[in-house]
Amino acid sequence: MGVKVVKFGGSSLADANQIKKASAIIKSDAERRFVVPSAPGKRFSDDIKVTDMLYACYEKASLGENFDSDFENIKNRYQEIIDGLALNLSLEEEFAEIKKNLATAGKEYAASRGEFLNGKIIAKYLDFEFIDAADVIVFSDDGVMQRHETRAKLRERLKDVEHAVIPGFYGKSVSGVVRTFSRGGSDVTGSLVARALHASIYENWTDVSGVLVADPRVVENPIVIPVITYKELRELSYMGFSVLHEDAIFPVRTAGIPINIKNTNAPEDAGTLIIPDSDTEEHSIRTITGIAGKKGFCAVNLEKAMMNSEVGFVRDVLNIFADMGILVEHMPSGIDTLSIIADADALKGREEQLLSELRKAVNPDVVEIEPDIALLAVVGRGMRKTRGTAARIFASLAHARINVKMIDQGSSELNVIVGVNEHDLHQAIRCIYDAFISSTL
Ligand code: ASP
Repeated sequence: MGVKVVKFGGSSLADANQIKKASAIIKSDAERRFVVPSAPGKRFSDDIKVTDMLYACYEKASLGENFDSDFENIKNRYQEIIDGLALNLSLEEEFAEIKKNLATAGKEYAASRGEFLNGKIIAKYLDFEFIDAADVIVFSDDGVMQRHETRAKLRERLKDVEHAVIPGFYGKSVSGVVRTFSRGGSDVTGSLVARALHASIYENWTDVSGVLVADPRVVENPIVIPVITYKELRELSYMGFSVLHEDAIFPVRTAGIPINIKNTNAPEDAGTLIIPDSDTEEHSIRTITGIAGKKGFCAVNLEKAMMNSEVGFVRDVLNIFADMGILVEHMPSGIDTLSIIADADALKGREEQLLSELRKAVNPDVVEIEPDIALLAVVGRGMRKTRGTAARIFASLAHARINVKMIDQGSSELNVIVGVNEHDLHQAIRCIYDAFISSTL
């Protein structure tokens, strides 16, 4: 029998009713033996996440201000959950301890209590063992999670455990201080637990039925991506898709463990399955997996007659970007032209310096900065097998009279990156969605 590690996000555990749903999901599959909860999140759109309430409370406590009523509000959120689940559980001792330590044990300690308390409640409700993440997730004293020590501790602690709840988001440093990951970090805990246990799958339960093919603020009702590889996800995340905490990918990806993004409010939906890059054969695929776009770039365009025969030209240009600490995103080129696509913010205020350094170094005939560039990534492992993909992308853009400023196709044939003017970006995403997805539905 395989082991499934299941992580539930804050909105999936925001109140007693949500916890009941999560619990029904867990109990419906005997392989779901290890549960990683977040702190209670928002119950409605204007609500405040418990983690944010704790940060605010800590702020007051550390300034020596009275935080009694803020603390009371946090207690009430948990008490409501306990009552709603009709649990015979008192967290009074824990609350007293937290209140006593709040000002002195640090901001991360304060924030971590959201998961700690929720973990206690959920463990009681499920009748699973509670395992304090401070005992199994190891940080260095400067707050960096220690992979090897963490894996060893998790394996040792969990080896004879049948069922457990391990709160997300935090651990403890070598010298005993509670530390947290950055926001959204319960995803990372879930991934570490899955890795340590060689789980058959890491289920990440949230409030959407998976990753969407395109941003729903741009495309109306986009479909869910059924299966995506880790590589494709990386391409799309780089271009702005926010799916999981960035650091949650590495542990499971290296172990070849798939992630399933699932919806607590619609558990029968298949969600999105994120699979190792080598496991793609058995899944039927569309040509395009996802379309992402990002604004905020600029193009530095250089022109010089006979550039093609000047040895070291590109190196000299790139050195200037490196010396100024500016990342080069893409570098389309012609015979006598070269463009560097870079982040506009990174260049802000230093445009003149860059232009003059470039003039000095390579003496171009023309050098100029073109602002307001957006990049569009059309990502899909299916492109490798389909002829005419590029033609379809550009025909649909041409049809909508969108001017293409740059084209870059990765050698893996996993993506096509297109540079357009920022004001054309949304229209471009919609065109490509229509051409590849709507037309096939
Ligand atoms: N509760 C933490 C946050 O709100 C961590 C998490 O939910 O993953 O960021």
